[in-house]
Amino acid sequence: MNKYGKERKLWNEKIEAISEEKIRALQWKRLKKQLKYDYENSTYYRNKFEEAGITPRDIRSFEDFQRIPLMTKDEHRRVQQESIERFGHPYGLITCAPIEKIVRISSTSGTTGVPTLYTLTQHDVEVVNEMHARKYWRAGLRPGHVVLQALSLSMFTGGLPLSDGIQAMGLCCVPVGAEGGTKRIIDFLLLTRPQALIATPSFGDYLIEKAPSLIGKEASELGIQWFFCAAEPGGGIQTIRNRLRKGFRARIFDHTGGGHAFHGICCGDEEYRGMHFISPDHCILELIDPETKKTMEMVHGAIGEMAFTFIDWEGGPFLRYVLGDIIQIFTKPCECGFPGIRFNILGRGDDMLIVKGVNIYPSAIKEAINRFHPKTTGIFKILLDQPGPLVKPPLKLKLEYGLNVKQAEREGLKEEIRKYMKDNLRVNPEIELVPPDSIPIETGATGKVKLIEVAKDEK
Ligand SMILES: [Zn+2]
Repeated sequence: MNKYGKERKLWNEKIEAISEEKIRALQWKRLKKQLKYDYENSTYYRNKFEEAGITPRDIRSFEDFQRIPLMTKDEHRRVQQESIERFGHPYGLITCAPIEKIVRISSTSGTTGVPTLYTLTQHDVEVVNEMHARKYWRAGLRPGHVVLQALSLSMFTGGLPLSDGIQAMGLCCVPVGAEGGTKRIIDFLLLTRPQALIATPSFGDYLIEKAPSLIGKEASELGIQWFFCAAEPGGGIQTIRNRLRKGFRARIFDHTGGGHAFHGICCGDEEYRGMHFISPDHCILELIDPETKKTMEMVHGAIGEMAFTFIDWEGGPFLRYVLGDIIQIFTKPCECGFPGIRFNILGRGDDMLIVKGVNIYPSAIKEAINRFHPKTTGIFKILLDQPGPLVKPPLKLKLEYGLNVKQAEREGLKEEIRKYMKDNLRVNPEIELVPPDSIPIETGATGKVKLIEVAKDEK
């Protein structure tokens, strides 16, 4: 209850409901403090300032702040390694808090290269917990609700840290995880009867299709009222959302907490309007032009590479960190009434493919193929002769036709999909249709389905 005696709609009304102006003021106050802290406690950041010929005192506006060089994941890896070599541990250069205050290390969900580490103090863990609480509270979850966590239960942010957050806000968490396979998840759905399920949209699709044969029930009979999508695109694709909504008879939410301080959740309405950025008091978000690497204006509809800066963060705060995610920003007020800007994750810069000068993301191909459901199962692979982004045309796609598509209809279906992609994505693919259930679903460390297959070198 809030002071008006009404049940509160936001977990933290003091922060989540304040005006854009007040948020900017709070961000500025915290940023100044954070920059000084980073400079005084991290050799890496001090060097960065020195290289740019500035000190935190010279940063008098958000424009000045943009003079600090961007930090990339490769640089993060390099600094991590340098710390291990110099100090025998990874916290020597970026981490600002003394070693005895670090209580958790987690890692990003990336599947390539040496994992990059996030170091958190108890204060930082509490910040992350609060962000999870803000998301699930907005969606309508309250103590007494049971949440089944079916993402990978690893140290990636959507794994154990997410389960901790759910518990910390007073919900009941069933951390089954993806590791034990589908059967185990279904067993626990039946045993614990959760109202909410957190899973990849692919798993949701799979359950809708398989539930009748596996448990003799429709997915809609499982009692799931909230389906939270994470770890892969889908929660933001209208056709997939519609399918999950119907299949589970649930509200469908797309949400993310990938950057620890960067969190968002969509409104759960039928129409998808992007995710609300719910952590502006702990994260300064910037849009970077992928080519010039300059900060772009945050205007409605702008697309750029995301950079984030942690504020009010003790362990390993990130400063103008670019992970390679391409996002679109929406600044006009959302119809749902919740304040703040929204964003849509379009894909990772390194997943992007370039076919005859046209930029294309696997998520866009996924959306296009899913438009043809149930004539397609939605399962597909992008076949590359060599790693992207440059693809020698035509772009090759292998996709499954739907269960009831007859032989005679397949050529026509192929043509329909090809034409749709040519008109809407400006790419003219070569499509191979294969029977349902013939493409194995391979997942990465987080349970995220791999959409690109690179041909083995046949030398
Ligand atoms: Zn909204």
